[in-house]
Amino acid sequence: MPTILFAAGPALWPEYQHCLPEALAEAGIKATILLETLHPETVDYIIFAPGGTVTDFTPFTRCKAVLSLWAGVEKYVGNPTLTQPLARMVNPDLTEGMVEYVVGHVLRLHLGMDRYLQDGVWRNHILPPLARERTVAVLGLGELGRASAQALAALRFKVAGWSQSARDLPGVSCFSGPDGLDKALSQAEIAVLLLPLTPDTTNLLDARRLALMPAGAAILNPGRGALIDDAALLAALEAGQISHATLDVFRTEPLPQDHPYWRHPRVTVTPHVAADTRAGSATRVLAENVRRGEAGEPLLYLVDKTRGY
Ligand code: NAP
Repeated sequence: MPTILFAAGPALWPEYQHCLPEALAEAGIKATILLETLHPETVDYIIFAPGGTVTDFTPFTRCKAVLSLWAGVEKYVGNPTLTQPLARMVNPDLTEGMVEYVVGHVLRLHLGMDRYLQDGVWRNHILPPLARERTVAVLGLGELGRASAQALAALRFKVAGWSQSARDLPGVSCFSGPDGLDKALSQAEIAVLLLPLTPDTTNLLDARRLALMPAGAAILNPGRGALIDDAALLAALEAGQISHATLDVFRTEPLPQDHPYWRHPRVTVTPHVAADTRAGSATRVLAENVRRGEAGEPLLYLVDKTRGY
């Protein structure tokens, strides 16, 4: 009978205390679940989230896997004590939540919804382009980027996608490599950032790349804050090169009260809510990975620690 340490922090436990045992039972797993332990050498799996109760994984000598509740792992993938296999969170609810966020905010930017104020002005002279006349770039074509790109393509947007390795997605013009990024950005009136944060992607959207975009383009970032050079974005907003930035993620979270993003009239701040992990569907993924671990089968959604995602 495996021992599972729920190390994602006591604040999250109430959400998981019923559905985790249920999901394990559905997967045919009888397990002991602990919230803390004096015997780390007896733990088989660690359920983990940043800010949780484990920072040093060294004593967990028997641990077969660390199972993250988060999709993004940049905060701990470089932890030198984390030598165990690391699986990140991928599940249909997370993807669906992200697709809804991306489609909602792209449509807001596309339709210019913020133009219409309750101020008595009849602004009927602006004819927005149709979706099929507008290019949206989706940077990152992983679990979340692929689904978002395809949902936008289904609405008839012209979609340019960019990823590390070459991809082939129906309805999406796919690019890869540094030149591919420049090509995708140079046609993008809206860029959606769904990349993981790694040394290669930090400050990816810098002054040069923002300047490649068509004048008045918009940014939607539900990926990670440090994908964008903040000073360059603020300068591009001031210059009108970028007309609007909708940002869900930031270098420091919560975003400090005195940060210029809070006060900027052409920035929308959402508080890292694009796609939250929902305990019901997350526990089914955790349970499936425990089942696989016990059966000696390959785990789902393993992180490549050298790549960083
Ligand atoms: P994923 O499946 O790992 O996909 C990552 C994508 O980024 C892949 O297409 C990958 O290329 C591409 N990529 C990585 N490094 C690259 C590089 N240097 N150059 C070009 N492309 C690169 O990740 P995911 O599940 O879609 O999640 C993406 C990110 O969304 C997460 O890492 C997390 O930061 C963020 N997120 C945010 C929220 C929120 O609520 N705001 C929620 C969940 C996730 P390949 O396809 O070639 O590997």
